[in-house]
Amino acid sequence: MPQIRPLISDLASALRLHSALLLRLQTAPTLHIVALFAHLTSLLSIFPSAWLAFHRSPGNLPAVTAALTDIAHRYIVACLGWPSPRLPPLLPTSQPMRPPPPIVLTAATLSVRSATAIQLLPSFLAQRSARLAFASCALTSPPCSPPSPAAISAATGAMELSMTSLWRVKWDNRYKDTFWRFTVNGLRAAGGHDISFPCSCGWHPPALSSGPAKALAMRAHCFWECPVAQAVLLEVHRALPPHVTVSKSHLWLLQPPVGRGLHPEVWAVVAMAAIHAVTRGRGPMWSASLGSSASTPPLSPAELVRVGSRAAQACWFWCLLQDFVNLQSVPLSWASIGRHHPFLNVILTPIPPGAVDNAPKYTLRLTLPVSLTLPITLDD
Ligand SMILES: [Zn+2]
Repeated sequence: MPQIRPLISDLASALRLHSALLLRLQTAPTLHIVALFAHLTSLLSIFPSAWLAFHRSPGNLPAVTAALTDIAHRYIVACLGWPSPRLPPLLPTSQPMRPPPPIVLTAATLSVRSATAIQLLPSFLAQRSARLAFASCALTSPPCSPPSPAAISAATGAMELSMTSLWRVKWDNRYKDTFWRFTVNGLRAAGGHDISFPCSCGWHPPALSSGPAKALAMRAHCFWECPVAQAVLLEVHRALPPHVTVSKSHLWLLQPPVGRGLHPEVWAVVAMAAIHAVTRGRGPMWSASLGSSASTPPLSPAELVRVGSRAAQACWFWCLLQDFVNLQSVPLSWASIGRHHPFLNVILTPIPPGAVDNAPKYTLRLTLPVSLTLPITLDD
């Protein structure tokens, strides 16, 4: 067997040598060249042919990156494992490399968490791609020009940071689940899973768009343009000074309007409640659009909007915040927001004389707009 290993130091050298041998094979074949070419072909065959083809072409670098991800998943992850008597030892490098040998790892080199992260890499990449599209939609406000890729990437990163701190807030996971799905277009009846249809308010998906584009348009409509969403936005504005304008990016990306003194984590809870309130408002609107019986005449779109808006704004948005307040799980970082913060406020609870535990305790309260009263509990 020809000793080709000293001839190559890395994969790029191997590919160059392989191409040179192929040329020699076509022009001046010898037994030595044939054997060398066959052996090198065998070594390179552990890589997908598409990857090799891309790697040989300098103009395909982006595709090579994607193919590298594919290799990591198909070849490396499939071989991962911890030491076990059942696993064969690593094969000597002189032996053929198909099938690839198991890569035996120890706890010091690979934790369960990092191994799981590697295995979920395709899911994370799909999630990231969906969130970039989400951020792009949140930042787009015609007739302004579309946001730059750098702006979209930065907004996505900021939103994910806010989501990380939001997940630590002690509250019902249903509301967190709604927002998580919202960012990846996974909410049913709102464009989720690329399914779109006309809204009960009378809106229709753009006729000439593709299926996914229609679904994204439906999400944008349901959570911003639809009168039900605007009714919730009205409630958000009721708690803010008149000159403050809340944009789609503020609400969707969990970023508070700059310079308004809004605590970022409080705003994230408010935005999450607003998105959930929209979904809850759409339910009654959809039910009403079906009619209660054959003898009941269907409601007009304007009447349906009134049903949905009333459910979303009068019940759900403020009731959700009241529900959060009822838990009294005040994050320590909220202690500074004071008693005049919009939406939610915090007061220092007086310590009774003689109390053993004299650590400061805070009480969370709802900053309810004047003339609005709510039920105390939330019945979902
Ligand atoms: Zn609508």
